[in-house]
Amino acid sequence: MEKRGGFDGVNSIKFNRYFQSDEDCYRYLSEVKWNFKNPYKCKRCGYSKYGKGKKPYSRRCTKCNYDESTTAGTMFDKLKFSLLIAFHIVFKISTKKKGMSSLELSEEFELRQKTCWGFKWKVQQAMASSKRYPLIGEVHVDEFLIGEYEEGKKGRSSKSKKRLVVIALEILKEGEVGRAYAQVIENASAKEFKPFFNAYLSKSASIITDEWKGYLPLKKEYPLLQQLPSNKGANFKQLHIHIMNIQGWLRGIHHHCTKERLQGYLNEYHYRYNRRNHMGSIFDLTIKRMVFSKPIRLNE
Ligand SMILES: [Zn+2]
Repeated sequence: MEKRGGFDGVNSIKFNRYFQSDEDCYRYLSEVKWNFKNPYKCKRCGYSKYGKGKKPYSRRCTKCNYDESTTAGTMFDKLKFSLLIAFHIVFKISTKKKGMSSLELSEEFELRQKTCWGFKWKVQQAMASSKRYPLIGEVHVDEFLIGEYEEGKKGRSSKSKKRLVVIALEILKEGEVGRAYAQVIENASAKEFKPFFNAYLSKSASIITDEWKGYLPLKKEYPLLQQLPSNKGANFKQLHIHIMNIQGWLRGIHHHCTKERLQGYLNEYHYRYNRRNHMGSIFDLTIKRMVFSKPIRLNE
């Protein structure tokens, strides 16, 4: 079976050589969209034979003439800028250690910040966890607060509302850390913790939380859940470093955090974090996810 050769690596020189024109990007999208695993089938009549369509690499059904572009039904549909720029943005957001804020993107690509903000929201949605690989082994869980920042305002405003986040991190041997997930919650109750646990934690995980009573009812479903005194954070050192890194990252480049948006940032952060040891394939994976998922509109 033929394997699709997706772009591999985080090197921007290599990236620029690989993608030189919109045409290159359309070709790439068509290969992601239609391949042996996912063969072409007309969206309108289901026929499998096609000819050339109007746009680069689009496919026109030979039976009903329906012309499907490579971007139709993907997150790249109806862009306000070229596909090449979109690929550049996805590359930056997915491969740079700290991603890029909409302000930085707008400066680099000479686009309106709002335009970048909107596209970045799509990328973040593609970065949401599939929830298919729950955390396993020893997992530390805690909650923390994040201030809600306003666009253009630096730092913490005293009036700003704070949002509560529940977070889980795998602790490996010798204090090494594994993967992590985080979710915005309304309050620190078992009712709010449960959907997060169910989505991201294996039932057989050795979960450790502090002595907060909100975690107690979860012992029914998670028999290995243990509660330990926090000891001013000493018992959850790795998790608290992780939390500080997230808070620093959010404070540094992102200032617009409604509840939905904050979840987007947490997803983005952990999407990269959980793949930090295999970043080479992250761009291709993000493109794939953007081809096969429809964007959810954000109520602004
Ligand atoms: Zn057709």
